[in-house]
Amino acid sequence: MRYAHSVAGLVGGTPLVRLNRVTEGIAATVLAKVEYFNPGGSSKDRIAASIIDAAEREGKLRPGGVIVEPTSGNTGVGLALVAQERGYRTVFVVPDKVSEDKRNVLRAYGAEVVVTPTNVEPADPRSYYSVSDRLVREIPGAYKPDQYSNQNAPRSHFGSTGPEIWADTDRRVTHFVAGVGTGGTITGTGGFLKQASEGRVRIVGADPVGSIYSADDPSGVHGYLVEGVGEDFWPGAYDPTVVDEIHRVSDAESFAMTRRLAREEGLLVGGSSGMAVVAALRAARDLPADAVVVVLLPDHGRGYLGKVFDDDWMRANGFEVDGPEPLVPASLH
Ligand code: PMP
Repeated sequence: MRYAHSVAGLVGGTPLVRLNRVTEGIAATVLAKVEYFNPGGSSKDRIAASIIDAAEREGKLRPGGVIVEPTSGNTGVGLALVAQERGYRTVFVVPDKVSEDKRNVLRAYGAEVVVTPTNVEPADPRSYYSVSDRLVREIPGAYKPDQYSNQNAPRSHFGSTGPEIWADTDRRVTHFVAGVGTGGTITGTGGFLKQASEGRVRIVGADPVGSIYSADDPSGVHGYLVEGVGEDFWPGAYDPTVVDEIHRVSDAESFAMTRRLAREEGLLVGGSSGMAVVAALRAARDLPADAVVVVLLPDHGRGYLGKVFDDDWMRANGFEVDGPEPLVPASLH
């Protein structure tokens, strides 16, 4: 019989699909690695099992323990999948810009969700870092995985995402493109591909305008709407020496591309995927036909139906909305 021993066994092995329409005018092959095929719907499922395994080994997480983590949602889902299977409870601290849909997904997995304001300094007692630190101190048996500094996060990508891309492209990948949030994905995947190719694969980061990774100076660090990527501090999970170039992408560009991916490629993905594709197309623009660019699409678009895919939300936030004229009168919509 062919089956997984638990849902954690379904993590990884996500497919590559060629992008065909948004790549018009580009000679290189651009392949998307579609991480929503993971059971929790995002690339973060990969880091959850390796983080929990290590915490158990190191005695940081014991039977009856509680996992407390600040997360924009996807890491929470991954951790909840594994925690539920092993009998741990979970408490997730999310910034208020994270959609209600995403919070409800965490609650559906049995997690408790604490919402904190987005636009306060990390050191502020109301910030999502401060609140999670306090909860860890106050809840007995609490363990905070800290995806921002936990080396098991990049390690899990080094051991899975990287080798999958290397094998599935028959070692022909020339560029790897990913958005940078905690930095775990690009550090681990990029690190593996660099090592396997003896430095030949070029690693390209994508960063929201306003994030620290691509800001010219500290005054350039400010808020933005795309979720799951960018930072206002330098996390330990990110190794900038792995990254060869980093592209700064605006919310408007990210969201326009996210909508195109759904309509033109049939890929319903989140805003950080649109952001990564914008960077991938910039990197691919002048590459020859034998170049193979792999861009990682971190999560599914269903968590963003009330945001990037909602015309009213887009207009209310000052973004343009395009699309064909309706075929039927608005009164019938
Ligand atoms: N996109 C989304 C939607 C995410 O949740 C994350 C994880 N924060 C990322 C991109 C970035 O991945 P990483 O943290 O590994 O840099």
